[in-house]
Amino acid sequence: MARILAITNQKGGVGKTTTAVNLAASLASLGKQVLLVDLDPQGNATTASGAEKQSLSKTVYQLLLGADNYAAVRLRSEAGGFDLLPANRELAGAEIELVDAKQREFRLKMALDKAAVEYDFILIDCPPALNLLTVNALTCAHAVLIPMQCEYFAIEGLADLVNTIKKIKARLNPDLVIDGVVRVMFDNRNTLAQHVSDQLKAHFGAKVFDAVVPRNVRLAEAPSHGLSVLQYDRASKGAQAYLQMARELLKKQAIATGGTGRG
Ligand code: ATP
Ligand code: MG
Repeated sequence: MARILAITNQKGGVGKTTTAVNLAASLASLGKQVLLVDLDPQGNATTASGAEKQSLSKTVYQLLLGADNYAAVRLRSEAGGFDLLPANRELAGAEIELVDAKQREFRLKMALDKAAVEYDFILIDCPPALNLLTVNALTCAHAVLIPMQCEYFAIEGLADLVNTIKKIKARLNPDLVIDGVVRVMFDNRNTLAQHVSDQLKAHFGAKVFDAVVPRNVRLAEAPSHGLSVLQYDRASKGAQAYLQMARELLKKQAIATGGTGRG
């Protein structure tokens, strides 16, 4: 059964999509079956996975409205070695259309129910907001992965996110946990970044990944070629960091389920 991870941070431009796409590609390259769900009307994860977002006839939008099932919407990302449920700007309408719908927070969960048996991991790339789309991701997920830039305001925003996670846990998804905080776009020559990183470790302890994703131009270039950084430049520091993160994730999961960490 798939472990479902929501990659969330309501702050914009912090590396959610870069993490979602490259973690998906890294897990795939380690032999895992991965489904990436683009839950952002910006459709950045769709483009970065090599799909043409304007020409899609079926997207996550149809899935949330119950008009299609996941198998009809699913594409293959040859560029990443994973499956993709794509999105485009049409998804922005879902929020309004679902306002009065029954079980509107559970739409994604219901849609992915049958997909779980086919995958080891389902990763959900969330939009930069704590809106109904993000609530759907948090209701559906087993765990949250938080990409963090180590800046002063990031810590402030984190408190809001942690509160939202608590509310979702209380009302909609009692088993939701934080599986990890990953430091991204990290510059270790920056003393503030070091300081924020220390604060994160003090607060989240072992939930902070040892893998640190540096600021790396290859990560920013890869999506313009519709490639994951693994295909674009596997030797780059960015690719190596996401591979390390993927290995760590597998190890944590193996410890949690009593396995060997090799699976
Ligand atoms: P949004 O909130 O708009 O969805 P996001 O949180 O998904 O944004 P990304 O799109 O992943 O953030 O990243 C924002 C920008 O930073 C992009 O141009 C991306 O290519 C670049 N970027 C992300 N991570 C890195 C990195 N480690 N090094 C260099 N550039 C990066
Ligand atoms: Mg994004």
